Amino acid sequence: MTRKYNFCAGPAALPLEVLEEAQRDLVNWQGSGLSVMEMSHRSSEIVGIATEAEKDLRELMGISDDYAVLFMQGGATGQFSAIPLNLLGDNRAADYVNTGQWSKKAIKEAKRYGEVNVVASSEDDNFASIPAFDTWKLNKDAAYLHYTPNETIGGVEFFWEPDVNVPLVADMSSTILSRPIDVSKFGLIYAGAQKNIGPAGLTIVIVRKDLLGKAHPLCPVGMDYQVAAENESMYNTPPTMAIYLAGLVFKWLKKLGGLEAMEAINRRKAEKLYSYIDGSGFYANPVEVASRSLMNVPFTLKDESLDKAFLAGAEEAGLLNLKGHRSVGGMRASIYNAVPEEAVDALIAYMKAFAEKNG
Ligand code: PMP
Repeated sequence: MTRKYNFCAGPAALPLEVLEEAQRDLVNWQGSGLSVMEMSHRSSEIVGIATEAEKDLRELMGISDDYAVLFMQGGATGQFSAIPLNLLGDNRAADYVNTGQWSKKAIKEAKRYGEVNVVASSEDDNFASIPAFDTWKLNKDAAYLHYTPNETIGGVEFFWEPDVNVPLVADMSSTILSRPIDVSKFGLIYAGAQKNIGPAGLTIVIVRKDLLGKAHPLCPVGMDYQVAAENESMYNTPPTMAIYLAGLVFKWLKKLGGLEAMEAINRRKAEKLYSYIDGSGFYANPVEVASRSLMNVPFTLKDESLDKAFLAGAEEAGLLNLKGHRSVGGMRASIYNAVPEEAVDALIAYMKAFAEKNG
C-alpha cells in the first residue's frame, strides 16, 4: 500500500499513526467486542471516549473551566447561523470583519438574524491583507465581534487577536491546534473538525459559560449551546466515531509535545514553502508577508496555461489535491498538522523540477 501526500484543504490528511490505531481497533475496540461506531452514545465506553477527548483538548489548548467545550454537528456553516441565534440576545447587532470568502459566508448568514456591521474589509485588496486594526469601525454595543483568524481559501492568517471590549468570536476551522493561542481572549471559538481535528462530521465549539442561555426562542434545539452544555454534548446522538478519532488526534498531538512543538514544525514547513515560492521567479503568492497562513498556501504559476500540466505531474508524483479553490483558481497547498515535513520537501522538489522544465 502506498500512501500519497495529501494537500487537501479539507477533509484533510490525518496522522498515519491515528489511522493505523483506528484500523487495529475498528471491529473490536479495546476488547469490548464492538466497533466504536456500533456503541450507544449512552454507553460508558462512548462517554469515556468523549470525556477523555474533551480533557485532552482542554489540556492542549489551555481551556479553563470558565468555558464549555461542545461537540456539535452541522459544520462551521451550521455555526454561521448558531452564533447569531445563540449570542445576539436582545442586542440584535453584531460586528463582523471581512477578510475573505469564509468571512463573507459568515456575514451573509448572520444577516438573516440580526444587524451586521462590517467593521473592516480587505475585499478591495482582493483579500490579500488584513485591514489595520486602527481603521476598524467598531460598535461598542455589539453583541460580539466575529472574525476568521485563518481564511482557508485566501491563505490569510491573523497573528494577533483583535483587542475589543465585546466577546470575540473566531472561526478557527483551519487554524485550530496549529499553534498555541490564549483562549481567555475569546468569547467563542469554533471549528469544523475536518482539517486539524479529525474527520468531517464533528464541529467543536468552545464557549465562555457566561455567554450561554441567551438563545433566540426559534434557535433549533440541536444548535442551542446551553442545551449542548447541560447535556455534555449528548442531548441527541453526537458523531461518536468522529469524536473517537479526534480523541486519537489529540493524543497524537500530546505525544508530539503539544501545540508549541506543533507550531515549530508548522513554521518550518511554511517558511520552506514560502521562501521557495518567493525566490523561484516562477511561482507567486499574493498575500502580504506578515499575514501569510501557516496552513494554506495559495500560489500561482507564471503562466496559467501550465496549470493543468502542473496538476497532472503532481498527481503522478503522488502529490494530491493541489488545485486552488474554484472561486480563485491557481494552486493551493494545505499543509495542516498531519501533513509531514517530507510532504513539503517532496512538493518543493516537484515544483523546482517543473519550473526548470517549463521556465
Ligand atoms: N470556515 C472556514 C474557515 C473553512 O475553511 C470552512 C471549510 N473549508 C468553513 C468555514 C465551512 O466549513 P464546513 O464545511 O464544515 O461547514
